[in-house]
Amino acid sequence: MQFARRDFLKLCMYMGAGAVATYYAAEIKQVFAQVAQQNGGSVHLIWLPMGGDSGCTVSMLQASNPNLIEAAQNLGLSADFWDTFMTPDYQLGSSGWITAGMTTEDQSQAPLMNAAFGDATVDVLVIEGTPQLGTPNGGSQGDFCTIGQYNGQDVNAYTLLQKLAAKASWVIAVGQCSSFGGIPAGKGNLTGAVPVTEALKTAGVTTKNPVVNLAGCPAHPDWTLITLASVLQGFTPDLDDLGRPTAFFSRYIHDSCPRRGYYDAGQFASNFDDPECLWDLGCKGPITVSACAETKWNGGLSFCTQAGPMCWGCMHPSFPDPPTSSFFEALPHFPGIDIPTLELAGAAAVVVGAGLAVGLTLKSKKGDKPEKKEEKTATGAPAQG
Ligand code: SF4
Ligand code: SF4
Repeated sequence: MQFARRDFLKLCMYMGAGAVATYYAAEIKQVFAQVAQQNGGSVHLIWLPMGGDSGCTVSMLQASNPNLIEAAQNLGLSADFWDTFMTPDYQLGSSGWITAGMTTEDQSQAPLMNAAFGDATVDVLVIEGTPQLGTPNGGSQGDFCTIGQYNGQDVNAYTLLQKLAAKASWVIAVGQCSSFGGIPAGKGNLTGAVPVTEALKTAGVTTKNPVVNLAGCPAHPDWTLITLASVLQGFTPDLDDLGRPTAFFSRYIHDSCPRRGYYDAGQFASNFDDPECLWDLGCKGPITVSACAETKWNGGLSFCTQAGPMCWGCMHPSFPDPPTSSFFEALPHFPGIDIPTLELAGAAAVVVGAGLAVGLTLKSKKGDKPEKKEEKTATGAPAQG
């Protein structure tokens, strides 16, 4: 099957692209090559690390349609800064891994500092990890995460975020931490961790295009590359009100779960070895919007509820706080109690502050179809119970 580039990306971004990504790998590579041709050379990418564990970078190594090297080559991507991958000798360039010849820390940081404070182009800014706006030891806002030095002065990641986001053509928050705060912004939140959108709003920074949130702990690598391909050819993804591409975030996992038949039949597992529905073991698939069950992971091989464990709700805006936790605690189902009563009970448990809505899936009795509501906030910030 042949796709025109634009048609293909439209298909991806509007029509539930996940399955497309799995079945049309060869065509996707062709589209990536066309995008590179259109861009006529190198596309400058800064992958900015903030509060996180680099898990989304590790996830990118599992990209399969195309893989990361093919994507870099076909998209003409030049990762001017991607610290986890950078070594003194090698860097991810548009021709694949290239000899970088950087022998000092200053040399490896130079492209980042030049992008933030100099005249270097930034086509795409990817943020991995959470902006931390706390002020440790009376320092500056953001000093929990200091990345390097410029003119002999320490520069923190929050300052870099502001400079780079204002300059970049596109800002993509990759992963749960940058999209919604994730684990660093979870209950307790000692570092003042907030989602990228909230950090930019606090700093009064406006971006050239809407920030794209690719939620997930980690982010899905194929969704990330397809989103990159889309924005690089000037195609604005259709985003939901939490800034997520609707192609990957429009249906509940529960809707396409391979165990759904057991759920409908009212058959529930009591051990992770059992084949039945994982509701009673804490599955959060019924309240989590994502295309995991459609695209699956690792080249379309499998995903959480198919492989054995339940869905943790790692793409739910409130993860890891309630209602996604406690992780092994079942979502409420109260036989004989009606939905309005449950809604009130759920709201009391998860709402924090004015304007936050509740994320709660309700089930009146085993086997009943649940009413599903994913939590939404104005800023994308997670609710903390
Ligand atoms: S509750 Fe979880 S395991 Fe059961 S059908 Fe829904 S998503 Fe699948
Ligand atoms: S199935 Fe659930 S826990 Fe697994 S990756 Fe998808 S959203 Fe995260």
